[in-house]
Amino acid sequence: MSSELDLIVRGGTLVTPDGLQRADLAVQGERIVRIAPEIAETAAAVVEAEGRYVLPGVIDAHVHFNEPGRTEWEGLASGSAALAAGGGTTFFDMPLNSEPPVIDAARLREKRALAEEKSCVDFALWGGLIPGNLDQLASLRDAGAVGFKAFMSESGIASFPRVNAAVLREGMKRAARLGLPVAVHAEDETLAARFTAMEKAAGRHDAAAWLASRPVEVEQEAIRIALELAGETGCSLHIVHVSSPEGVALVEEARDRRVDVTAETCPHYLLLNDRDVAAIGAPAKCAPPIRDEKRRKALWRDLRAGRIHTVGSDHSPAPAALKTSDDFFALWGGIGGVQHGAALLFSACAATLESDLPRLAAVLARNVARRFRLSARKGLLAEGWEADFCLVEFGRPRTIEAGELWTRHQISPYVGRKSRARVTDTYVRGHAVYADGRLVNLPPPGRFLRPER
Ligand SMILES: [Zn+2]
Repeated sequence: MSSELDLIVRGGTLVTPDGLQRADLAVQGERIVRIAPEIAETAAAVVEAEGRYVLPGVIDAHVHFNEPGRTEWEGLASGSAALAAGGGTTFFDMPLNSEPPVIDAARLREKRALAEEKSCVDFALWGGLIPGNLDQLASLRDAGAVGFKAFMSESGIASFPRVNAAVLREGMKRAARLGLPVAVHAEDETLAARFTAMEKAAGRHDAAAWLASRPVEVEQEAIRIALELAGETGCSLHIVHVSSPEGVALVEEARDRRVDVTAETCPHYLLLNDRDVAAIGAPAKCAPPIRDEKRRKALWRDLRAGRIHTVGSDHSPAPAALKTSDDFFALWGGIGGVQHGAALLFSACAATLESDLPRLAAVLARNVARRFRLSARKGLLAEGWEADFCLVEFGRPRTIEAGELWTRHQISPYVGRKSRARVTDTYVRGHAVYADGRLVNLPPPGRFLRPER
């Protein structure tokens, strides 16, 4: 007979790929050991989850926590805390805007050691793909990189230059041989520069000019090039932050031609439109920019139809000084959204939870784990899987206040928005990291995750 269980979550509504299921969930050690309508045994800890939803912990494959080197922008401790407060249990940190960027194995090991010390959730690390580091890709893989990230337009960070098509092709060839995906920021630099020059020449520097300087054609052109190279090299391609249904359609066509490609979008493209950008200002500046209402709605249709495969926050914060200027072009482009993005997506589906919560759980957790080969452990509420989950309650709309942000800077486009969904608890491998609106300090720090072979 086994010893007493460590934890039982009783009476919650579990979100599984097959739908919603009212059940108890038992944890022993770091894993889910049983899911059943009723678990009669006792446990060291019991959470009464009646009326709440139990979702797989969010796996955010796209954050910039900026440590080491730009910790004054965020940092691994505050970034991971904000993620946990938003239901997140794993993040993948991008190779930039930490300084120096993760472009070789030594930098990856350095960031890994820092995160092992400071992160309260599990994590994986992206390696960079830039001109001049092609010979580092193999050692980055050996050090545990989850994939390689490249920019097709200027990244805004001098130490992380963009790749041209020739470098991207060679990088993809090598990544294919190494068995890792390449993720691209897909905006065409030539087109972006041309449209930007036109706006500036016309003396326009407001939010609308910024949006006009990066129309969907800029994204489409880069996605087309990346897809062609992926088809040619056999590389697994992940297009990050797809902002438009036109971009999603290109990915879908390529999948029909058997190109191994997935599309990520971000909560801000699903939650905000161009009018919101004008109203919110600097906190809503990002690239590619947020689109019009018609496109926002079309992205929801794409998500519900399974044409968007993952959703990541692209959390890319900056201090207030970099988010303050009369010239919208001069502002740091990046959205601080790691804490509230998922909850606002849940809230947006409050009237259609039955069908939409399983879909959101897929793009926020299960699909991410599968795409990046963590799926034997993460992303699913199932017996044998690691006990990463969050509890979410739905109620009357509540305004998000700056003071509740766990991020280093209280800057987010979501401050002032109303949410019907609230994350109440987050568990990583069976340990509570966030409970009743507070971070719990007891659990061991986050664990480094390597892709399964
Ligand atoms: Zn990013």
